[in-house]
Formats: sequence, C-alpha cells, structure tokens
Amino acid sequence: MTDDPNRDQCLAMRDDTRRWIQADQTHAWHPFTRQREWCTPGREPLVMVKGDGVWLWDSEGRKYLDGNSSIWTNIHGHSHPALVAAVQKQAAVLGHSSFLGLTHPLAADLAEALCALLAPSALERVFFSDDGSTAVECALKMAVQYRMQTGEPERSQFVAFANGYHGDTLGAASLGGVARFFERFSNCGYNVIFVSNLDELSHLDATKIAAVIIEPLIQGVNEMRLWPTGFLTDLKTWCERHVVHLIADEVMTGFGRTGSMFACQKENVTPDFLCLAKGLTGGMMPLAATLTTGRIYDAFLGDAEKAFYYGHSYTANPLGCAAALANLMIFRDEQTLSTLPEKICHIQKCLTALKASHPQVHEVRQCGMIAGIELRRADGEKFPVSERMGEQICHAARAHGLLTRPILDTIVFMPPLCISRAEIDHAFHALQQAMKC
Ligand SMILES: *Cc1c(COP(=O)(O)O)cnc(C)c1O
Repeated sequence: MTDDPNRDQCLAMRDDTRRWIQADQTHAWHPFTRQREWCTPGREPLVMVKGDGVWLWDSEGRKYLDGNSSIWTNIHGHSHPALVAAVQKQAAVLGHSSFLGLTHPLAADLAEALCALLAPSALERVFFSDDGSTAVECALKMAVQYRMQTGEPERSQFVAFANGYHGDTLGAASLGGVARFFERFSNCGYNVIFVSNLDELSHLDATKIAAVIIEPLIQGVNEMRLWPTGFLTDLKTWCERHVVHLIADEVMTGFGRTGSMFACQKENVTPDFLCLAKGLTGGMMPLAATLTTGRIYDAFLGDAEKAFYYGHSYTANPLGCAAALANLMIFRDEQTLSTLPEKICHIQKCLTALKASHPQVHEVRQCGMIAGIELRRADGEKFPVSERMGEQICHAARAHGLLTRPILDTIVFMPPLCISRAEIDHAFHALQQAMKC
C-alpha cells in the first residue's frame, strides 16, 4: 500500500463525475448540510460508486476505508455476497406487498428470529417500520396508547436524558437533548422532561410518567460519551419500582457494535421496548423494528379501537426483511461476535497510541467497536467552533484513504465489524497522517 493513495485529488475530474456533481448541486438537498458551501466551486463532494468489505470507491477510482460504517449502518462490510444474494433472490420473487391485513414469509421468519436473539419470552412482539426515528415513534405511541388502555391515562409524560439523540421526525426529535439539533423545534412535538442522572429522575412525580428512553451504554450524537457501568441496571430498577416503561434506543448500539448483540445484554437488562434500525439489515436496506413484551401487546387485544394505530406503506418490506435475515445468518455463520474481542483490544491500543503521539487528542472514548477521538487545543481548551477542527482532520484523512465524519471536534471511528487488524492499522495510520498537518 502506498503511503498516500489518494494524494492527487486535483487530477482533472472525469466527465461523468462532473455531470453528477452538477445535477446534485442543482437539484439535491443534503441532510445537516450547509447547502451554500456544498455548492461552492472547489469543494466538490465525493461521488461514491462502489463498496466491497470495509472499502468504498468514488467515481474517480479512489479507495477509502469506511471509518463510520456509512453513518453507523454497515455491519459485515459492503456488498457481502450473502446479503447481495438474499436481496437479489427476493427482488426477483416479490419486491413489496402490504403488511396491512397480509403477511409474508420473510417478515414472519424475521420477527421470530429477532425475538430469539433475546432471553426466552423477554420480548415477544415485533412491529416493523423503516428508520431509527420511526422505531422510536412507534415505541412512544405504543407506550401512550398502552396507558390509555390500562386505565392510567394520566401517565402520559416521557422522560429523556440530556444530550440524547433519538432521531429527527418531530416525535423522536422531541426526545432529543442535543441543543444544536433540536432547539429550533422545541415549540413543536411533545412535552418531554429531561434529566441528567438518576437523582434528578427520582425527584419527578413518577405517577405521571409513561416511559423513560435511553441510548444504553453510550450516547452517540453526544460525541460518543459513555454512561457509567451499572447505570442502565440502576435505571431499570427505578423503572420497575415505579412501573415506568423503559425504552432502549439501540438504533446505533444494536447488532454487535458494543461487542455483544445488544448493549442492554451487557448489563443483563431487558427493556420494555427495544428500538432497532441502522444495523438491522447489515446496512443494506432501510428497515426498523420495535420489540416489546407480551404483556404490553396484550393491552392491544380486543375491540377495534384497541388496535395499535400506526403504520407505513413500506412496513416490513420484503427486501429489507431478506437483508435482515441474511444479516443474522452471517452473524451465525461467521461467528461475528466471537471475532470482536481481539479487534476491540486492538482498537484500544491504537487509540492509546494516537493519544500519546498527538497533543491535540484530548480524550479517547471507546465502547466495543465504537470510538470517539476528541480534539482540543494543547492547553485543554476547546478549539473555536469556527475552526471546524474535526471536519478539517476528517477531510485531510481522505487523502490517506479514510472516510469518516466528526461530531463537532470528536472524530468517530466505528468501522464495519468485519474489519481486519491490518485495516484498523490503515485507518489509524490515516488519522496519524491527517493530524500531522
Ligand atoms: C441514528 C439514530 C436514530 C435515528 O435513526 P434514523 O434511521 O436516522 O432515523 C435514533 N436513535 C439513535 C440512537 C441513533 O443513533
């Protein structure tokens, strides 16, 4: 491998690349993006055209290691043959059929397989939707409707944690505690009570609370900050004592990211609702699932008005279900979880070495295969926001064959679980080089 595989970024651009960029800049609108800057000449975006394993290629033929799993979705690498085959096979048979009043084999199998990942009869029901945000919306609506149907309509409040993130639709955004994402929408959506710790929680009137939501073990968008060990267990104990439901948002942490299949399993906690999305299909298709207990489900049995009023046109899309089943099959066939401890240990060593050699690395945070590298000035103060230091470093890393994104000045390293030791080394070498400038 050459030192700087992607150095010659100034090469004349291919005609098709130029055309795609022009069409994009003229008509497309990107998430969380300063569109004026996006369209500035000289800041042309990469046009991604191919993926294989942990690698992505752009339309100019340059190759990058996917250091944030394509925004935290990819699990077994890009274009995994088993995932490709599963989706191709299903696409040739039935691309979509409504889940409203009908079912199909893959959704039935997937619901069963998801429940089987948890302790016997812990979570027995699966409600499908499309994204992390909709998985959360669904848990919220279930939690509220459940209370209406069990004679406790006064339990209508939600509690969320400061600096948490649960998605961008209005309902999910109401639970968001990261000011720069949610402040401007604070007049819309529900009334949510925010707490920072269990002490604040214990001062609330628990009889008004329907549910508490948490990102177990680690808050992703909060610059990869970890909860103290045992926090989830203590929260579960409080919830049980006060008959408040616990919603575990494992949209980011699910599917091996923390080293076990689900983060809750690290503390042997069973939530009342488990929200899954990003990694559910191995990063292949948009699909989400909200799992819940038999007890909650039972409150929705009976007359028509007891039915759960929620759904989307693409609920339980067969292609998504095919990808999700193949994802679980790969976990089994490749014994993915048992390969992780060694990788987690190697990432830890690389993080320690990076911190030791670069004074601007203020802190490294790691939870299994998820890492955050926080940059600060040598005197420990934060860089001025206008310097956009995190972005600058990530941009520089591209020239050394690594793609990732920062959250403010915290660089995220969250590769597909299939990454090899040599590939981890490649990623950290790229970061080392990027930080030299
Ligand atoms: C990404 C994320 C969501 C939102 O998922 P989308 O698929 O982007 O709607 C919700 N919760 C957590 C913890 C996430 O990381």
